[in-house]
Amino acid sequence: MGLFRLEHSKAAYRADFALYSAAVVVLAACLWVDSPRGQRLETASFALLGLASWTLIEYAMHRFVLHGLQPFRRLHAQHHERPTALICTPTILSATLIATLVFLPALALGNVLFAGAFTLGVLAGYLAYSVTHHATHHWRADTAWLKQRKRWHALHHHHVEQPGRYGVTSAFWDHVFGTAGQPRRASAPTTAHGAVLRVQAPGADGCEGGEFL
Ligand SMILES: [Zn+2]
Ligand SMILES: [Zn+2]
Repeated sequence: MGLFRLEHSKAAYRADFALYSAAVVVLAACLWVDSPRGQRLETASFALLGLASWTLIEYAMHRFVLHGLQPFRRLHAQHHERPTALICTPTILSATLIATLVFLPALALGNVLFAGAFTLGVLAGYLAYSVTHHATHHWRADTAWLKQRKRWHALHHHHVEQPGRYGVTSAFWDHVFGTAGQPRRASAPTTAHGAVLRVQAPGADGCEGGEFL
């Protein structure tokens, strides 16, 4: 299992979902047990704050890092070229980033309960993002919500030069920052190698790839 590879085996790709699901359950249980009874509402509020913060992190990472900063931009282009390939951020990298950029700063600002609860919210948001993003490319849209998310993300993939629609789990920040509108159509969507890019027709709700989660 290549810990630092972007494209994963089916087992490693599934393991990322399993590890983050387990982390969310274990951390939530630890916080529930360790929070004094009178402080549980406060702890839950910090977790909700982390979850809300994730939506902005998701938007900013996708827009300014994955579409703005090399080498992440080049690496993310691989996903745009092959949307159904099992490409995701290596678990060890995402976990390290969450520990150093979320947990440690939160710990510096508060105490371990605040930091743990805030991190729980961010972890839950990241898991929701990973599952939703996978679903947009691999699952059939059985609900109106998923159909809407699939169409939204298909439009992001469809417009190569000015993708817009950076939010995956939510369109909220795209509306706030003005990236929800119809971008100028790229004249000829191409891959990094110059080949014409095949994209899913926006609005298609069929299954692009195999379902295996
Ligand atoms: Zn993108
Ligand atoms: Zn995608």
